[in-house]
Amino acid sequence: MIDLKQNVQYVKSVGPAKVPLLNSLNIYTIEDLLTYFPRDYEDRSKTKNIADLVNGEEVTIQATVVSEVTINRIRKNMTIIKATVEDNTGRCTITWFNQTYIKQHIKRGETYKFFGKAVNEFNHFEMRNPVFDKVDTSKNTGKIMPIYPTTYKLSQTAIRQAVENALNMVNGKLSETLPDYLLNEYNLLDLQNSLNQIHFPIDMEQRIQARKRLIFEELLTMQLALLELKGNSEKNKGITFDKNAKMSDVINSLQFKLTKAQLRVLEEIDTDMESEKPMNRLLQGDVGSGKTVISIIAAYKAVKSGYQAAIMAPTAILATQHMEEFGKILAPLGIKCELLLGATTAKNKKDILERLQNGEIDVLIGTHALITENVTFKNLGLVVTDEQHRFGVKQRTAIAAKGNNPDTLVMTATPIPRTLALILYGDLDISIIDELPPNRKKIETYAVTKSMEERINNFIKKNIDEGRQIYVVCPLVEGKEEEDETTKDLKAVKEWTKIYKEQIFPEYKVECVYGKMKPKEKDEIMQKFKDGEIDILVSTTVIEVGVNVPNANIMVVENADRFGLAQLHQLRGRVGRGEYQSYCILKYEGKGKNTRERMKIMCQTNDGFVISEKDLELRGSGDFFGTAQHGLPELKIANLFEDIQELKVIQELAQKIISDDPLLEQEKNYRLKKLVENKFTNRIEI
Ligand code: ADP
Ligand code: MG
Repeated sequence: MIDLKQNVQYVKSVGPAKVPLLNSLNIYTIEDLLTYFPRDYEDRSKTKNIADLVNGEEVTIQATVVSEVTINRIRKNMTIIKATVEDNTGRCTITWFNQTYIKQHIKRGETYKFFGKAVNEFNHFEMRNPVFDKVDTSKNTGKIMPIYPTTYKLSQTAIRQAVENALNMVNGKLSETLPDYLLNEYNLLDLQNSLNQIHFPIDMEQRIQARKRLIFEELLTMQLALLELKGNSEKNKGITFDKNAKMSDVINSLQFKLTKAQLRVLEEIDTDMESEKPMNRLLQGDVGSGKTVISIIAAYKAVKSGYQAAIMAPTAILATQHMEEFGKILAPLGIKCELLLGATTAKNKKDILERLQNGEIDVLIGTHALITENVTFKNLGLVVTDEQHRFGVKQRTAIAAKGNNPDTLVMTATPIPRTLALILYGDLDISIIDELPPNRKKIETYAVTKSMEERINNFIKKNIDEGRQIYVVCPLVEGKEEEDETTKDLKAVKEWTKIYKEQIFPEYKVECVYGKMKPKEKDEIMQKFKDGEIDILVSTTVIEVGVNVPNANIMVVENADRFGLAQLHQLRGRVGRGEYQSYCILKYEGKGKNTRERMKIMCQTNDGFVISEKDLELRGSGDFFGTAQHGLPELKIANLFEDIQELKVIQELAQKIISDDPLLEQEKNYRLKKLVENKFTNRIEI
């Protein structure tokens, strides 16, 4: 059997120059290369008659060269090779630019298959830069060609060649990864064939069969891994929190009445906390639905039961904001909260860590700083992570490891349709807040085109003059592929800031934040915005600030058509946090039906769950199910939207397998056990 974890450099045609390029696509091993799946295919298998060519189509023709093959140097860096070819139905010109070496491969009187784009000029077809084969070979034509996601530095041909060589290398030496009983029951192709057919399909039917098998394996492994994770954590005995530590003590002290949804969720958390199983719960709720207060109440229960609580937020600003809210509610009840950030001074840090260790601090709130080694709790009982998608499983586990099977609560403001959430977070129980506190003013949303620009600007002016503040979010500037996000971010922000500062609103204070900015500078600008010293704040979504600025009441999104709905919804959530009527203005240019439809949904509803379902429907899962975002293992081939039916079937299957054989110890499940083990190793590396 062959070692698939071997370095990709051992594949023929992969020389020292290609290795770093493949690495940049996350291909390090032979296995990575074999599971680097095509994003699309080009069907070069069927040939067409010259008489039937259609302008602009990519097509294969089979034709004989009937002219001399000419070569012309037009100017210094430009040579053109031309030949006329003919089949039974007509003639066509073939042209190659700057590929002089081709001349020696093309001969008058010989027949070839050419694949390329057919262009009709003055009633005559021309094919430019086609690939070709002699009539009896099929290297570049006559088959279905895979198209891989790649960078401009690494050609399709190079990847194809590498994949083909890797396939040859493993041919006949691969061990099957799925148990035979599943292959039979679900009528699945074996692994070797699936890999061959997904990369170089004989026909589209084979490709479908190959894909079916590969997503089956991928999804089943994910489900089994999640179920096993859940099973493992439930096996451990957790903390039984005190029945006499009453959540109602805090609830009665609040200035407002909790919503029905909040009360239901608290009930679920209360039950978990009092049970001896460790809690592993995901709390989903739209922006502003009141998740923070839930975590405050849970922390109260933990502290009153004699334990400490840790609250981890993704940014210093959010952590600081939490600190304020926790302190406001918990300090009067005699509970000591502290804030620990990366920026906390050494002296303060030392003091905090000491008091944490001897139990003087009840609740520690902070950023990643909480995970650092020297943070030691006396008795950590509850871990809350906010805005879950920023943290990987690894970080969640790291903070939990500071206690002895503490209860964990994971909060996220990214709503996901329930069916999917159940599947994606198979290792967590799920609570949903599906109701906003009463008397929230609906954020008025308008989708506008260029023609409305002046009215919009006047409207913004009026609001600023009344004392309000404005967010402007712009998309990344489309740049070269090799530029990274922060470069594009900087360009975009600079461009838009200039427009707002110099052209539209020279009389107001316009500032910007961008990704590359030092965290300290970023925080300073945010603080100034919070303090009302900035009127208009320009940024891209690279800076996702979940900050509370109640005085900001307008969110302008430039080129809104370039954002996903779920993302627009998140952005919109930054306004409407205060007493003022708030607005979200979506500027768009796209004329397509799909764009208008998407804008319409944003204007019609403020319900994050409805929006996420629609987003999935209209956009596919690519956008916010970039699963890595959720701290889940990356999916290489399955698509959570298109494959939702399979996913449901496989989830049931996984449950059946696990309830029958919880540790996958039976002989027949041996291969599944290996798959899951493999997944777990990947998982920890996220
Ligand atoms: P989330 O974290 O879910 O985005 P927050 O917890 O920050 O939302 O809540 C938003 C605001 O609503 C906070 O100022 C909070 O005090 C307030 N709030 C929470 N629950 C209620 C409620 N039931 N009634 C009124 N206001 C509430
Ligand atoms: Mg929040």
